[in-house]
Amino acid sequence: MKSWMAVLWSVLAGLAVAEDWQPVTEERLLRAGDDPDHWLSHGRSWREQRFSPLADIDEDNVHRLGLAWHFDVATQHGMESTPLVADGRMYVTASWSVVYALDAATGELLWEYDPEVPRETSIRYCCGAINRGVALWQDKVYVGTLDGRLVALEARSGEPVWQVQTTDPEKNYSITGAPRIAGGQVLIGNGGAEYDVRGYVTAYDAETGAQRWRFHTVPGNPAEGFESEAMARAAETWTGEWWKLGGGGTVWDAIAYDPELGLVYIGVGNGAPHNHRLRSPDGGDNLYLTSIVALDARTGDYVWHLQQVPGESWDYTATQQMALVDIEWQGEPRRVIMHAPKAGFFYLIDRETGELLSAEPFATVTWASHYDLETGRPVERPGQRYEEDKALVFPTGLGAHNWNPMSYSPLTGLMYLPVLDFGGEFKGTPAEEFQPLERHWNVGYDIQGPRGPELFIQALMQHLPQGSLLAWDPLAQREVWRVRHARPTNGGTLATAGNLVFQGTSDNGFHAWRADTGEPLWSWPVQNGVQAGPVSYRANGEQYIAVTAGRGGALSMVLGLELPDGSTPVNRVLAFRLDGEAELPPVPARVLPEPLPRMAVSRAELERGQQLYDLFCSRCHGIHAVSDGSIPDLRHLPVAWHEHFEAVVLEGLMERAGMPRFDDVLDRDEVRLIQAFVLERANQDAERRAAPAWWTTTRQWFYRKVVGALDWMMRRSIEASTPATAAE
Ligand code: CA
Repeated sequence: MKSWMAVLWSVLAGLAVAEDWQPVTEERLLRAGDDPDHWLSHGRSWREQRFSPLADIDEDNVHRLGLAWHFDVATQHGMESTPLVADGRMYVTASWSVVYALDAATGELLWEYDPEVPRETSIRYCCGAINRGVALWQDKVYVGTLDGRLVALEARSGEPVWQVQTTDPEKNYSITGAPRIAGGQVLIGNGGAEYDVRGYVTAYDAETGAQRWRFHTVPGNPAEGFESEAMARAAETWTGEWWKLGGGGTVWDAIAYDPELGLVYIGVGNGAPHNHRLRSPDGGDNLYLTSIVALDARTGDYVWHLQQVPGESWDYTATQQMALVDIEWQGEPRRVIMHAPKAGFFYLIDRETGELLSAEPFATVTWASHYDLETGRPVERPGQRYEEDKALVFPTGLGAHNWNPMSYSPLTGLMYLPVLDFGGEFKGTPAEEFQPLERHWNVGYDIQGPRGPELFIQALMQHLPQGSLLAWDPLAQREVWRVRHARPTNGGTLATAGNLVFQGTSDNGFHAWRADTGEPLWSWPVQNGVQAGPVSYRANGEQYIAVTAGRGGALSMVLGLELPDGSTPVNRVLAFRLDGEAELPPVPARVLPEPLPRMAVSRAELERGQQLYDLFCSRCHGIHAVSDGSIPDLRHLPVAWHEHFEAVVLEGLMERAGMPRFDDVLDRDEVRLIQAFVLERANQDAERRAAPAWWTTTRQWFYRKVVGALDWMMRRSIEASTPATAAE
């Protein structure tokens, strides 16, 4: 219970907000693009371009940008949230779906809402307990919770008004995406396509929470009848008994609404399992996986679809941001969707008809050579479906561009994209060996981290996945400028009318570049990795740039990158203004415990321990047991935790903190082997830190050279083996 002091404080803080509270009406949302002071919806306006027309901060004065305030959130496990700002109030989410309302000028807490997500459900979150933000409508704030609820809160007090369970709690659904508003309805999707669910989007009456419509993205069991014509048509593109594993197709992030056309666009995710052959054994396109589907906003009825990756087999999704832009194309005005999803192509799609106008790769892409614009279908390269043999495929399932928002400046005509250039090996699980696990990942191929000496693996993970900020001309489909980043997984972007692009990076920086040229103009150390997209707004007559900082999420967690020096695990919101003089508290020095000695196991047992670690632990604790800092780095576990290792993994000793139990898939002997691998890694790490600096530096230099050579050879072999135009 809140103390009376806390209640009094929140009332006083509420009164102190300078600007008058206004309801977020349909009219305000319709003209949000031209209204510079607020950030009323996830992508700022219904166009989802993330362009701020504010120019008080510009290329000439951005060097004066300083911290105005920061707000530390109480939860760990990462930040992906885009804050919304209306009338001087900021609404931002943190992990475990907690919502904070802050004074946008000072960072003072106005209220806090914790939906109290049961921590033991964390087993079903592929990518951490993260959340990407809220929606605003009239006098309410809406949040989707990890355990599948949609909750409406009173915007001034944070008091819950209504909530609905949007998913079957017995199934492995989760919600991490921000709800969207369309004509008095709240739209919400869900996630869980790695855990055998069937995707859908639901529209609820924003006032009452009553369900208006639901659109499934993949067909269910034909014996039970189809919900719509669209499902009956989709079922013709599936084979085998796909419904048993749900089919996937979750809409876990992007939804867009065009009020002029009355259409809702949903970005549909990958199949369940990923491996096409195991999902739909006799082939088929598997509609509407990896598609943009346009729906009638009032009824949820199917209008058109564009499937980007027919028969998806690599965890490619169309769930990434859809920016709605009006352009001139071949002399004609066109209303388009600009889309740069995981599969590595930048798509221009007519949003009235679904016609594919153009698709060109913006990163290294091997799975397809190009698109046939007559049919709207990709031309695949042979062997990439890993059916006969394993295959090296670019991009990986992490995507060439994932959920991290992009931004489009109508002034420069450029899209600013956080890009990850990275490939991975796919080795399919034979059908006779495929045994889906009930509470766990079922993807249908080997999950195995790279093998080799510790520093080699670190060099590999630091240098093969290349992260950059790409300024892309969407009409000419070409790169205009690019900034290569030190680390692969970086934040979303914000473009402003001040000729600026802002982006946070995973090496703890927050930066501004000139939007037209890419000239670096400003940097600020934020002590934590940034994944989210920044926002801009005006409060008390002054322009602010704000961003949430925190590691976590699939890209950051899995890649196994050493935490940079001066990192804090504290997740926070930071707001900047010209001549801001606030400071962050110093980062406490990290004290790493001495590891326990290695366990007496054979080489084969150690290898088995690593296999089990890769399969069940690496997704959160990182490749090679190197954590991103959003959850504990197992190499640096205090001795006491090693004494309780088995109880943590098998009995759920840390379930309340979000560490699931694995007693359904692991036995005591297997846990012992995982612990042996973790202690092996802990000791390797301690030995490296104890070694003379020159020796470590020399070895690191050597491994970087080896990795550089490997990268060169790999790319040469890709060029040699994949002709520019493959046979169809
Ligand atoms: Ca996925």
